[in-house]
Amino acid sequence: MSAELPRLSLVSEADAGTTAGGEQGSFPGMPTPLYAASPSKLLAFLDCPRRYRFAYLDRPSPPKRAQRAHTSLGNAVHNALRDWWDEAERTPARGGALVHDRWIDVGFRDAAQSAHWRAESARAVTAYLALVDPSDQPRGIERTVSFVSGDLRVQGRIDRLDERDGELVVVDYKTSRVAPTDDDARFSLPLALYAAAVWKMWRRPTFAVELHHVPTGTVARHRHTRESLTRQVERAKAIARDARRAEGDLAVHAERSEAFPPVTGPLCGWCDYRAHCLPGQQAAPEQADWAALEGSTPAPPVSIERE
Ligand code: SF4
Repeated sequence: MSAELPRLSLVSEADAGTTAGGEQGSFPGMPTPLYAASPSKLLAFLDCPRRYRFAYLDRPSPPKRAQRAHTSLGNAVHNALRDWWDEAERTPARGGALVHDRWIDVGFRDAAQSAHWRAESARAVTAYLALVDPSDQPRGIERTVSFVSGDLRVQGRIDRLDERDGELVVVDYKTSRVAPTDDDARFSLPLALYAAAVWKMWRRPTFAVELHHVPTGTVARHRHTRESLTRQVERAKAIARDARRAEGDLAVHAERSEAFPPVTGPLCGWCDYRAHCLPGQQAAPEQADWAALEGSTPAPPVSIERE
């Protein structure tokens, strides 16, 4: 199969004739500066432009709220699954022990709740790793990847990059309460952008993306096509264009700019910046730090599961 990407138009920075990462000033005749973004930055603009402004533009940035319990849990599990590959003895039980070692005791209701989720997460990681071949070294673990397409530079980090039957597979771990579906994998902008980046960096067509739900061991899969990856890259570029336009408006109008409106909804209950946002406070009650772990509370929106 050809490794060419004519319809994805993933071009190198040199090809683009631009300078990476710059929001530099431009003059007539100069190429358009690159807009640098991670998938989560693009999704932040899509979810709520006001939150995007708080997180990425306002300086000094408004203080974020303290880390929530589900973020602590997610980080501990991700760290254990990363470090497991460095272990001399890659047994499932060793993975569970790593969760205990790397536990982050922040955001839980009390010591008992933290201990419960520490044990539960260790159990989940142990069970998940029983399904993983310890001799099958991934091609990448928490690997930073990037690509340039037009005037967008995307950079992100892949949890795991497998090679199976001669094909590269992008793997993203999930620790959410609800297991993702194949449609979640299919429509995930980050997964598609990671696949595009792997294709560019490894010079190998990459279509397979997976969401591994660690608590249940289930895997949500999707197999992209060249066309579907192209659509997702174009979607990312459209979001980046809107964000760039809004940033230009902010530069001209400063506090009078209306380019970053609040988008209120369930997200406001979980938002790190709601203390600075009256419309968000009025839209939804604040969720407790540990609410995402409790069965009676609606799960938080996917985009803030593990920020
Ligand atoms: S509280 Fe809601 S409206 Fe305000 S920034 Fe956060 S998500 Fe946006």
